[in-house]
Amino acid sequence: SELARLLHPETKTVTFANVGGLNDVKKQIERRIIMPFQKPSLFQRFKKRVGGGILLYGPPGCGKTLLARATAGECKAAFFNVAIHDILDMYIGESERKLHAIFDKARSSTPAVLFFDELEALAGKRQHTREATSAKLVSQFLSEMDGFTQNNSGVLILGATNVPWAVDAAFRRPGRFDRVLFVPPPDQEARGAIIRQLLDARPTDGAIDADAIAGKTSGFSGADLEHLVEMASDEAIEASLDSGGEVPISQRHVLTALRDVKPTTLEW
Ligand code: ATP
Repeated sequence: SELARLLHPETKTVTFANVGGLNDVKKQIERRIIMPFQKPSLFQRFKKRVGGGILLYGPPGCGKTLLARATAGECKAAFFNVAIHDILDMYIGESERKLHAIFDKARSSTPAVLFFDELEALAGKRQHTREATSAKLVSQFLSEMDGFTQNNSGVLILGATNVPWAVDAAFRRPGRFDRVLFVPPPDQEARGAIIRQLLDARPTDGAIDADAIAGKTSGFSGADLEHLVEMASDEAIEASLDSGGEVPISQRHVLTALRDVKPTTLEW
């Protein structure tokens, strides 16, 4: 069932090496997320609050989920990936029960990273919140996060949203999502790294200039670049089928695909 999947940590290990570019964000995660998580006593001595959650925000498709997964990999922690919509249930009390089961599972699987995507669906200001999200679920969530009543040590709570302005201030109070981190669209270097990574997994003619493509894809998210490489793959597959052999992806295929793929982060 859906709940069984949610209670199962992901097994595929991803680390920062799998995240193209974004060096500044990685450094921030290392300093502000991983170190407090791994050395809580040091931070406590300096009167820093331990526990609570960190909110990742930025345009869609720019690596928030990937970074959360890689953070778990860097900490050798179990990774629980929960989209808020996965826990919403029409039956009374069911959403709360699922949420509690997920937190409990994470607490018994430490070290664990518990990642909540689409946080605004739960933590939205009233006008943004889905009707299905009850006040009960919100208070259940806040009490599960509460470090005074719950022993969440060893559980790192990360949230993500594309619409940070829709997140209710109550969720940003101390002990809740009290630290925020902007995950920007990939810069030229990050785009080059993402493009190389995507092409590495596919047959190419070995003469593709990833840096040149990175230079032509300003405003593209990681998801947009995936779309671009998939379109280029389609071009190469077409050519392969026409020729009866395997035609690898070439620069020309990518440039042709570029005519049809548009950046999505510029409107954000
Ligand atoms: P959403 O807000 O829509 O949930 P997101 O910010 O969580 O999106 P991801 O799902 O992490 O974005 O990324 C979208 C896709 O782009 C993924 O397949 C991811 O692997 C890829 N991607 C994004 N950024 C990078 C990056 N810096 N390096 C490698 N791949 C990336």
